[in-house]
Amino acid sequence: MSNVLNWQLGREMDYPYDAAYPDQQFAFIFNINRCIGCQTCTMACKSTWTFSKGQEYMWWNNVETKPYGGYPHHWDVKTLDLLEQANPGGQNWGGKPEDVKAPYGKFNGKTIFEAAKTFIGPEGANRALGYLPTDEEWSAPNRYEDHPVGNEKGVKGQYFKGGELLPEHKTWFFYLARICNHCSYPACLAACPRNAIYKRPEDGIVLIDQERCRGYRKCMEACPYKKTFYRGTTRTTEKCIGCFPRVEGKDQAGHGLPMQTRCMASCIGHIRLQGLIELNKDGTWKENRRSPLYYLVHVAKVALPLYPQFGTEPNGYYIPPRWVPRDYLKQMFGPGVDQAIERYSYPDRELLAVLQLFRRSNRIIYRYEIKEGAKIYEATLRGRKITLYNDTVIAYGQNGKEIFRTQVEEPVHVRPNKHANSI
Ligand code: SF4
Ligand code: SF4
Repeated sequence: MSNVLNWQLGREMDYPYDAAYPDQQFAFIFNINRCIGCQTCTMACKSTWTFSKGQEYMWWNNVETKPYGGYPHHWDVKTLDLLEQANPGGQNWGGKPEDVKAPYGKFNGKTIFEAAKTFIGPEGANRALGYLPTDEEWSAPNRYEDHPVGNEKGVKGQYFKGGELLPEHKTWFFYLARICNHCSYPACLAACPRNAIYKRPEDGIVLIDQERCRGYRKCMEACPYKKTFYRGTTRTTEKCIGCFPRVEGKDQAGHGLPMQTRCMASCIGHIRLQGLIELNKDGTWKENRRSPLYYLVHVAKVALPLYPQFGTEPNGYYIPPRWVPRDYLKQMFGPGVDQAIERYSYPDRELLAVLQLFRRSNRIIYRYEIKEGAKIYEATLRGRKITLYNDTVIAYGQNGKEIFRTQVEEPVHVRPNKHANSI
């Protein structure tokens, strides 16, 4: 085992290989508050990459209803349980949030790599703590869709009728859209006995070499997010490839410029923003104040990693849903939840402008600028004064050229009468 810096945990941790970081890292932010569970992203991915024989149960992109849903079933609860068994009562956070090396404080518990040392089997210790889901657990990708939690007086099916108020709804659910996190310390890669899994040095996308893979499924056991899938027709595992031809700028529609993945580009709810992050030598994010991802993760701190305590340093970040009980969210996104929801609920001028960049274009945004506009609205929101300005936010691509510009106040289009009843 090597010692590597996991900045999401605010400390060094064990990992089977020495640290090696790409020039830039594929990363994305999903705003859960906006997801409508339409599954357009799921179908965009399926119809592009996994429509062939043997791929029927492969959902590289899936959207599950929390708290009950999950694909495979209960994937997160099962891994959290294993970690708790390995380190009873010790899975917690401490310390104070610091700079880019410890933005959420310090994780005191054990990661899946550290906890694996306590499970010694006939072949020695595993490289990552995990489990292999059963066929039954892979059988229904959207079990419990739209199923809420929270019954009035404990009566099944009877939900609260008195209306709901922030900060926490009594009856709640939310949609969690998921793809492979193209982790900085991938557990799938760590566990593969064939060295068939690798992380591309140019963009950090994690791929499985289909020539080397023998289908031992060690990656499926180790990945805590359960994002590698077995294909019976080829006896290999496959996973999300980050739409790498698009990221490389090879999609015809991109005219040579990097494009966002199919799932990002098709998102109806405008919840998704994908980018490429420049890294420092120690794997932390290079300061880049005008990158929308850097701004949302490290400046506004509204976007948080999914289950950072697993220890893989996932590169998928989420703006947590405002209405969900905080303890549930803190288990899922770490101790930054309160601050993230506070900032998102009362956004300042810059945050409101940057939130308009999500899914406005197929191209990858490298930089943004804001041009100030007129005051358009003033009101009191949950006891606080808010003021809205119609600022313009401008997105720039890899070549420094403008991709698009948009405003905080969206234009209203009125359909002419002659089209009133037509599609
Ligand atoms: S999410 Fe899973 S499959 Fe994807 S890189 Fe991380 S460990 Fe590997
Ligand atoms: S397309 Fe967007 S809004 Fe629809 S389910 Fe996927 S992430 Fe959610």
